[in-house]
Amino acid sequence: MNQGTMKKKDNVIELRGRLDGRQRNRLKRLLNMLYTPRELSEEVGFNLQQVYRVYIPLGCPHERDSRGHIWINGSEFYDWYLDTYSKVILEENEAFCLTCKRAVEMVDVKRQRKNGLVYEECMCQVCGRKIAKIVDRMK
Ligand SMILES: [Zn+2]
Repeated sequence: MNQGTMKKKDNVIELRGRLDGRQRNRLKRLLNMLYTPRELSEEVGFNLQQVYRVYIPLGCPHERDSRGHIWINGSEFYDWYLDTYSKVILEENEAFCLTCKRAVEMVDVKRQRKNGLVYEECMCQVCGRKIAKIVDRMK
């Protein structure tokens, strides 16, 4: 996480793995066919590890062959990316749940301090996952 991932003012959540304009243009060239993670990363121009560390855990559509290798359909990845990374606007009392993949109301909020950050934490009322939202940075 760096400074650029925090946009507290307008309550816009920035997910890791967001692509820049040039990468998004290359994303449009992906075809309706299966790519290996390496081919996909070279086609779009991002780090190969981003597939394993960010996109797959976030629910990127993929399949595994009999040898356990991952294949990703280019068109499906494009649709998934746009859907997942379209800006999520949060109300004051909402946080983004990565399991439900949407904004959920925060109930029974606990305020925490850690690593120079002040954040609010609660359980998602829909799926029970612990969710947190950064509300301030300690000076
Ligand atoms: Zn949830």
